[in-house]
Amino acid sequence: MEFKSHLTQLFINNAYVDCINTAKLSVYNPATGVLVSDQIPLAGLEDVDLAVRSANAAFAATPNGILLRFADLLEENQEHLAYLTRLTLGAPYLPFGKSEIGTAIGCFRYYAGWIDKFAGQSFPADDGFYKIVRYEPLGVVAGIIPWNGPLASVGLKAAPALAAGNVFILKPSEKTPLMAAALGKLVIEAGFPPGVFQVLQGDGSTGALLASHMEVAKVSFTGSVATGKAVQVLAAKSNLKRCTLELGGKSPAVIFDDANLANAIHWCVNGLTNNSGQICFAASRVYVQERIYDQFLAAYQKTFEAKRKVIGDPNDAGSELGPVVDKAQYDRIMGIIETARTDGQGTLLVGGKPLYSKGYYIEPAIFTDTKEDASIYKEEIFGPVVVVNKFKTEEEVLFSSNASKYGLMAGVFTQDINRALRMSSGFDSGVVGVNCISTIHFSCPFGGTKESGLGRELGVNALMAYTEPKTVLINMTY
Ligand code: NAD
Repeated sequence: MEFKSHLTQLFINNAYVDCINTAKLSVYNPATGVLVSDQIPLAGLEDVDLAVRSANAAFAATPNGILLRFADLLEENQEHLAYLTRLTLGAPYLPFGKSEIGTAIGCFRYYAGWIDKFAGQSFPADDGFYKIVRYEPLGVVAGIIPWNGPLASVGLKAAPALAAGNVFILKPSEKTPLMAAALGKLVIEAGFPPGVFQVLQGDGSTGALLASHMEVAKVSFTGSVATGKAVQVLAAKSNLKRCTLELGGKSPAVIFDDANLANAIHWCVNGLTNNSGQICFAASRVYVQERIYDQFLAAYQKTFEAKRKVIGDPNDAGSELGPVVDKAQYDRIMGIIETARTDGQGTLLVGGKPLYSKGYYIEPAIFTDTKEDASIYKEEIFGPVVVVNKFKTEEEVLFSSNASKYGLMAGVFTQDINRALRMSSGFDSGVVGVNCISTIHFSCPFGGTKESGLGRELGVNALMAYTEPKTVLINMTY
């Protein structure tokens, strides 16, 4: 497929430039398996150095009008941006493409609103010293993002970083580089000064160059646990740059027998099948109280099977679910399903089969009665696979929910407010949904406990994470 040349160039200092490193990456359409481009740039050491130098020279506060204009441009161009993502991600525009762009637009508007409200502090000179605390930008910030929600990830990282007065270098995933490349034109149109918002396509080697760069002050990373740990090591071994890590999850949804079942099923099915389960906070472990277990499972299965009818070519209007992102992801998920089935890790109730003769489509799968030490129960699959188990008591299900190395999100479904509040205190996770799951809100911190991450995005917390507090002590005697 022939692309306009700027989509295969880096965006440095407000100009599309050829990558100095001559190696190229290839991307494929997961709906067909066909090559989309073998001309994707792979930014190397000299490219990264050039972008960091431009960023350092640019260092300046971004006015809120530019962030608002950028949000408007994302909105005006959302169908085209979603198309560029869809070409190599495979998720249909509705519901996923539009909603992840909505997250990005919302982030830029939300943080534009903070620019003239993000105040410091001052303390009285009761002891002869007047004290001021300023929240100062860090400087050059790199955002290294995954493929599964590429534009939403840009919003979560670039918007607070820029609003706090930093300059930002985006490193998109090698699996979804096209939309990121297109952002350069919008960066210019919105009025960002050169060097403030740059895009370097590349793979893990480009990410590692940024994470270990001596003049990058912070890296905000979203991706797998293993890579997140590697990024933190690189950050520590270089200049002790600040790190925010948003990593994996295996989020429990707990359905008590007094829950509104239709609501629980709605959230749990969408929270697992949206983007074919390739969502960090997917409701991938479902626990159902024994009295309603059979009734819940029958209705859950029925809704799951209805989703089977809307899996298809992501360009078709009737498709709600597309393929998984690529052959590697498809082979990995099918391998996990097959191993779980043959090893007796649980009962495969429905789904788990390949669909269609081309492309990487997988029928969403439900496993029941999974063993607590089974890998399908413990590990993040990042695909359309859920484990459903029965529980008796609140204590028992809280223990099972927390017996995980992840702690990104948990959901509790009940009509009992006391129980909901007890459970929300008891869950060891960064976010808890009551009668909802797999959702975020701009004004509230998002992120995980344990190996799900370090630090928080969204809310004022993200602004704090892109600044360094500076204390100024004024001796009032002189
Ligand atoms: P990944 O870790 O393979 O890659 C993420 C990014 O890191 C990519 O841009 C990649 O090029 C880069 N990278 C790879 N090696 C690197 C290195 N050594 N140094 C620096 N950068 C490097 O993850 P993925 O497969 O793209 O994404 C899936 C994972 O992301 C899942 O585990 C999912 O749960 C997680 N995720 C988490 C959140 C969250 O907010 N917690 C959101 C979305 C996805």
